[in-house]
Formats: sequence, C-alpha cells, structure tokens
Amino acid sequence: MNIIETIKRFPDQSSCIDYLEGLRWQGLPECPYCNSKRSSKRQESQRHICNSCNRSYSVLVGTVFEGTKLPLPQWFLAISLMLNAKKGLSARQLSRDLGCNRKTGWYLQMRIREAMRDGGDGGLFKGIVEVDETYLGGKKANHSKKKRQERRDNNLQVTGMQDKQPVIGLLERDGRLKLQVIDKAHGKTLKPIVEQSVSTDATIVTDGFGGYAGLNKIFREHQVLNKEKEEYARGEYHTNTIEGFWTLLKRGIYGQYHKVSLRHLQSYLNEFTFKYNNRGNNQVFNFLINKTATAS
Ligand SMILES: [Zn+2]
Repeated sequence: MNIIETIKRFPDQSSCIDYLEGLRWQGLPECPYCNSKRSSKRQESQRHICNSCNRSYSVLVGTVFEGTKLPLPQWFLAISLMLNAKKGLSARQLSRDLGCNRKTGWYLQMRIREAMRDGGDGGLFKGIVEVDETYLGGKKANHSKKKRQERRDNNLQVTGMQDKQPVIGLLERDGRLKLQVIDKAHGKTLKPIVEQSVSTDATIVTDGFGGYAGLNKIFREHQVLNKEKEEYARGEYHTNTIEGFWTLLKRGIYGQYHKVSLRHLQSYLNEFTFKYNNRGNNQVFNFLINKTATAS
C-alpha cells in the first residue's frame, strides 16, 4: 500500500481500530485476560468490557500499539513509509514526514522493527543455502578522528559504529534470508546458527573460512569455494547472492543510518531481512500490521 492509499484507507483512529479488530478477532472480541468471547462494547469508546472477568480492554492490548499516545493513523503511516523506503528511512526523515519529534520517530521505528523480527515460523532453510559473514561498522570516512574527538569533548553523541561487528548471513537460494549479529566470527558461534536454521539435507555453500570447517559432517553437502585461488563459483554453487546483499545492506546502513549503534544493529538487520523476505509480497502492509496486532 502506498502513502496516499494508507492516508485514504486510515484517516482516523476508528478506521484503524476497526481494521485491527477485523484482523485480530474476525468480528468477535476476545478478552486478552481470560479469553472469554462474551463482552459488551462501551458506548462512545473503542473499549470492550468482558462479561466474565469484568475487565475492560481494547484491541491494542498485547500489541506493539499498546499504551501508545500517538494516534494510530500516524503508526500506520510510519509503517507504510518504512516499507516503501527500499534503502531504509532515518528516524530524522520519518519524524519530518510525520511531523513528530525525532525521539518519537525513533521509538516508532524500533517498535515496528520489533514486529518485523522473524519468528522462525517459516521452517528450516532448504536446498542450496549460501552462508557468509561480514563486518559492519568501523570508522566512517567523513568522521575524522579529530572530529570525533571534538564531539566527545563537547559531550555529543559519538557515532556508534566505530568497531567492526561481525554478522552472519544465511541465504536460501531463491528464498529467505537470515541475519544475525555475532560476538566473534569463529566456528563456535557460526556453526550453531547454521545448524539451527538449515535442514540437514541442504547443501551449504561457503568460502574457505576455517569457521565453517566440519559442516560437511552435519549437512548432506558442504561446497567450499577456494576464493584464494579465485574460485568464485562451482556450477550452481556460489555465494554471489549473499555477497550482493551485503553490498546493498552496507549502502542502506551507511547511507541512511548514520548513528546505528551496535546495540541496535540486530534491529536494523531485522528490518532489512523482513523487506528482503517479503520482496514479492504485495500484501506486505497487511502482513506486517497483522504481525504487530498479534504479537507485541
Ligand atoms: Zn475477561
């Protein structure tokens, strides 16, 4: 759904509430405290009263929207803006678009990214799975050492990504992507993630990095490319898709998010992963709203 459609479809609070109630309850409100489906609606309010436990509730209980003071049309618009920004959207830009302050824009993004987190319900990766690691962060070219020291002296926020942070990526050929921040790129951290995410009858493709040694004992096949000898592909076995994705990710992260702190890196990765995994989904807006509405 584009921005204009979102504004037309959700002009006010009640249109958003009606939509969420339809998604979550299919017209029959259910008490989030005792699961009773017997309730009465409060006049002039979006709240329901449970006939069993007498508590009052709205459709927002237990969702990412719970307790928010921000009108729902703004939330919906924020979701639409984030989904439509292919290369990412900074909190600064989002708050400008919504006319809210930057802290609110940042908070919205963090909550929406939380909803974008992959719960792993798609099952194990199958077929050919490219596995690779990369490092994000490091000194930014346009932030000289002197400038950073100046900022530190003035007690201003120092760019968070100063040290490189390893990230592992798993990419199912023509399928899904998984990204995870890791402490250190070695076998002890890398292999368990591959084991948890990939079916044992899959073919794993990696470069010759030692951290991946031994995967052939767990999986049907482990194709190891010898990149030091300029072997970048062996027939259909290559890691070009994940490497192409690293390029896009870095462009997105450094282009839009100047202050991605390492503490929040996984949450940014969740956003990029969600967009990648839903690249062909023309119902992505509904899908994400549904995720926000059913899990907090
Ligand atoms: Zn109840």
